[in-house]
Amino acid sequence: MTDPERPLTEVEVDELVRKCKDVCLNEYPNPDRVGCPSDEAIERLAHEDQDLLRNDELISHVASCSPCFRKHVACREQMRSRNRLKIAALSTAAVLLLVFAVLTVRNLSMAPGQTGISKGGVPPQVPESRAQTESQPRAQPDRATPASKPDQWVVATLDLRDLSGSRGEGETRPRTRDLARERLNLRVLLPVGSPPGPYEITVQDLDGDFSRSVTTDARVNAGETSAQAKVDLTEAPSGPLRFGVRRPGADWAWIDVRVR
Ligand SMILES: [Zn+2]
Repeated sequence: MTDPERPLTEVEVDELVRKCKDVCLNEYPNPDRVGCPSDEAIERLAHEDQDLLRNDELISHVASCSPCFRKHVACREQMRSRNRLKIAALSTAAVLLLVFAVLTVRNLSMAPGQTGISKGGVPPQVPESRAQTESQPRAQPDRATPASKPDQWVVATLDLRDLSGSRGEGETRPRTRDLARERLNLRVLLPVGSPPGPYEITVQDLDGDFSRSVTTDARVNAGETSAQAKVDLTEAPSGPLRFGVRRPGADWAWIDVRVR
């Protein structure tokens, strides 16, 4: 058997998504449309309405009702053709999110000790069991929070304009900044007077276990230097972190950050 701790490969994830999608599309006919939400709700869900994305009941229904799921997929496709660049991989990710959300909801609603997808165990619901026994997805409760968020980049700003280059050890540290536990599309306002050009940006924990680094190009606009950086903080530890920025080869300027 495969090591249960081994992360899924990209091919396995694709296969899992395909199988889950097939199951969702075809295995729950619901001809009487029992319990179906309005088309508008499904459309809003497809458009990642934040309130609806937190509605476990709705997500659970859409993922286990083929007509609703088809409608959801159709909405996603429509969105995709409308804005191909922006949501390239989103449809797949949305399916994954739905599947993980359903597995999480199901696991949470089971009695302690029941997993529903334990090896050799008989899963309680026949249609869903096909996907599980064929592909052995592993629902990890501790990963439920990031996995249940929409697969999108959240726009945020980090204002470093009051930072002055590198700092000595004895100097007063600037205040700790909060960053959201999201896939951040971060606009970094660089210290006043920073020249344009390439910058390295990093978010690390103090032990070096967690590190996300990007290289970006800063621009000056109306006297303000800013750089755009995509940083995935969904798996950042909750302890103290530091955010560093520098021009290649120069000293890092650090500030303390906390991811919430
Ligand atoms: Zn339905």
